[in-house]
Amino acid sequence: MRLDKYMVSCGVASRRETAAAVRRGEITVNGIPVRSADVQIDESCDTVVFCGETLCYRPYVWLMMNKPQGVISATEDRDGQKTVLDLLPERFRRMGLFPCGRLDSDTTGLLLLTNDGQLAHLLLSPKRHVEKLYRYTSKRRISEEEVARAAQRLTLADGYECLPAVIVPDAEGCGGTVLLREGKYHQIKRMFGALDNRILTLRRVGFAGLTLPADLAEGAWRELAETEVEHLRQCVVVNIDKM
Ligand code: URA
Repeated sequence: MRLDKYMVSCGVASRRETAAAVRRGEITVNGIPVRSADVQIDESCDTVVFCGETLCYRPYVWLMMNKPQGVISATEDRDGQKTVLDLLPERFRRMGLFPCGRLDSDTTGLLLLTNDGQLAHLLLSPKRHVEKLYRYTSKRRISEEEVARAAQRLTLADGYECLPAVIVPDAEGCGGTVLLREGKYHQIKRMFGALDNRILTLRRVGFAGLTLPADLAEGAWRELAETEVEHLRQCVVVNIDKM
């Protein structure tokens, strides 16, 4: 791959910044200063050093974010609203990260971001029924009969028949968890609407078997461990059309 593409993939410089760094003699490949940004790099064996730092090439990045309220799950702002990408350092924006799925602006919690379009596409494919776990609070307590209705197939106002969902109300109060295996627009809000109820707060706490860590503050993010990414790869294989 070309050096400038390699630098973008590492998240350290744009193509233009790479050209400038080359002119300043700030980049070496296997100990030799490079003279052109289009020199070819073999990412499996070449050692690239930029301003004294040895770069580590990774084809894809996966991040887990605790999305705060009022931030949209998009790569570009709409009407000046803050996006989840605005919460990340510049180097990740350069790497072409995008949110893997969407949470409403007022929904908080676990959101994955990546530049791995293929795996993200598989995780979001309706055929794969990847699990999403939410904590909710609602206007009134969900009854046992309503739990049973959701476990069958709730019909939304537009006639859509939901896949079976598992609602587990807390022992007391108006909160609980909802487990979905699909992700339609405003799904949980519309499901509660179909039960003549209303969602007050919604937080995603699980996605594809990954859990939102209790110590990840709202607005904070961390990279997924390689074992977690491998878990996602397994999840798309195991989950295909099991319903
Ligand atoms: N269901 C909703 O209604 N909103 C979300 O953000 C996610 C699931």
